[in-house]
Amino acid sequence: MAAGCVQLSRPLCSQILASVDTLLFDCDGVLWRGESPIPGAVQLINRLQEQGKRVFFLTNNSTKSRQMYGEKLRALGFQARPEQVFGTAPCSALYLRQEARLRGSVYLIGGATLRGELQTQGIACSGSGPGPELTPGPGPTQVWAAEPLDPAVGAVLVGFDEHFTYMKLCRATRYLQNPACIFLATNTDTLLPLEGGGVPGTGCLVKAIEAASNRTAHVIGKPSTFMLECMVKEHGINPSRTVMVGDRLDTDILMGSNCGLRTILTLTGVSTLEEARAHQESNSPDRHKLVPSFYVESVADLLPALD
Ligand SMILES: [Mg+2]
Repeated sequence: MAAGCVQLSRPLCSQILASVDTLLFDCDGVLWRGESPIPGAVQLINRLQEQGKRVFFLTNNSTKSRQMYGEKLRALGFQARPEQVFGTAPCSALYLRQEARLRGSVYLIGGATLRGELQTQGIACSGSGPGPELTPGPGPTQVWAAEPLDPAVGAVLVGFDEHFTYMKLCRATRYLQNPACIFLATNTDTLLPLEGGGVPGTGCLVKAIEAASNRTAHVIGKPSTFMLECMVKEHGINPSRTVMVGDRLDTDILMGSNCGLRTILTLTGVSTLEEARAHQESNSPDRHKLVPSFYVESVADLLPALD
């Protein structure tokens, strides 16, 4: 059995908060649900900052910019600036520019936010939006395979795209048949949880392209470590004095484990305590990485330790 998954009592909570100077928060299911803040979350975030803690917001959502997240946070009452937000859209563009040193343009499966972040980094892109669709005629497979490809494309980037079609899958696959073409995905969440069950997420589009191209995408979002690396670079945060707070074991908590951070699971979102316990009791070391260090019923449970 793995260690961890300890409920945060008030004394333990005070101890943890004294040992960190940075707290990373996932947003949906942690600080808000839909358009309503989780009770106590606004007071927590504001009081943490009043007491000198650094707070950052992490999201796998590729459809919103830092600016848009900052506005949503402030509209709900959170003290937050866009620089405190780390999302997969700006981090994907940063990755292509700084890490992959992309020369050429991007074939983008994704929307206006991703397009804007690529532009910010001076990267040209094609493919975004409803896009031209070929009309199936006689021998359509030959027509699709003969559609001219843009020789400038050096990367395929996949984010959330409500205009995803067979033709986009086909074009992405054909670009990726060139082994030098970079294959990047914002995130691999397969479900966007919504009231009443949810809808397919970016991960479903990524899986389709992985299957068709027989390649594996490099992933920017949680549970990958890249967003934390961006934070370390931009803000000089110290991972040993940082805690990650999230509602999903397979993204938030696993990212924390992958980065060597302590983690807190909050039970107001997707994952349950039973799931965490099942990972804890399993014999697989891989599943032990999904076990949070601590858990709380809600982030409001951290508030009394700040009095
Ligand atoms: Mg969440």
